[in-house]
Amino acid sequence: MLAALLYGQEDLRLENVPEPSPSAGEVVLKVTAATTCGTDLKVWRRGGHAKMLQLPTLFGHEVAGEIAAIGSGVSGWQVGDRVVANNSAPCMQCFFCERQEYSLCTDLSFNNGTFAEYIKIPPAIVHHNLLPIPAHMPDDLAAMTEPLACVLHGVARSNLQAGDRVVVIGDGAIGLMFIAAMSLTKDVTLILFGGNNQRLEIGRKLGAKYVFNYKDIPDISAKVKQLTQGWGADIVVEATGVPAVWEQAIACGRPGATINLFGGCPKNTTISVDTGQLHYSEMTLKGVFHNTPIYVRNALSLLASGLLPFELLISDRRPLADLEAVFQDMKNRRVIKVAMTN
Ligand SMILES: [Zn+2]
Ligand SMILES: [Zn+2]
Repeated sequence: MLAALLYGQEDLRLENVPEPSPSAGEVVLKVTAATTCGTDLKVWRRGGHAKMLQLPTLFGHEVAGEIAAIGSGVSGWQVGDRVVANNSAPCMQCFFCERQEYSLCTDLSFNNGTFAEYIKIPPAIVHHNLLPIPAHMPDDLAAMTEPLACVLHGVARSNLQAGDRVVVIGDGAIGLMFIAAMSLTKDVTLILFGGNNQRLEIGRKLGAKYVFNYKDIPDISAKVKQLTQGWGADIVVEATGVPAVWEQAIACGRPGATINLFGGCPKNTTISVDTGQLHYSEMTLKGVFHNTPIYVRNALSLLASGLLPFELLISDRRPLADLEAVFQDMKNRRVIKVAMTN
């Protein structure tokens, strides 16, 4: 079968590799839609990922497909079932899993290799994070379950209340999904900062009341204060993964604000925080990582509900053979998400 392998920095090769066959507890999917993601772009540009990958490696992690083969001991599924598989599952046994803090699992099993004709799903994911796609739902929409699950986890940890004024910094798929998901809370005012006018327009369609290109705004926090009677936002979501932007995000919060530092920064980077602001303004700085099984389920339901036009995030559908060109387009920010198909 054809599969993409990542060898290093911006070195992704389509190769012929043996088709996977399922061992006990596993299933093999025929990939019908694999969406690209900002994390893929980051990993491709950096040539690796500390937590998820060892090179060379099968690549890609958002997938919808059809069950093609089933290993021994797997029940409840049939060949031909349309499913979405999350890219990880918690072990359910470690210190953190026992406390239901699944995103902190010390033995999270990650699965990569969606940019291929077939992908093997390991037992833990088959067990906890393999879900049927509702009949009417398109595969490329279902493939976005994983990133939306991360976002719903992030929203749940943000202390969002009716009437809140929320700033989202970052107009990638994740920032835009935060806008969409938070728009479901009553009377929220959503303020989006990004660097690409087309994406900002999509942000508006997904529920942002104000959108700003940061290139036109010399001081983001001053702009936020201007829109909030001088106080700052109740909640700030950082969705870029740049340390300097983490600091800007903190500067946008009002006293008592929750700052959701969602975008993962490069390894060994630091930020500085004004201790007086943190203490006397009683701010909550919160790191939120990845997703957990409950949010995977909630994400698929929300996508299937048709309540929000998440399809706006898919700029293109392309065959697997175009993968290299698609990554160049992502690098140049010409596309948001692309659904790779076979
Ligand atoms: Zn992703
Ligand atoms: Zn665990």
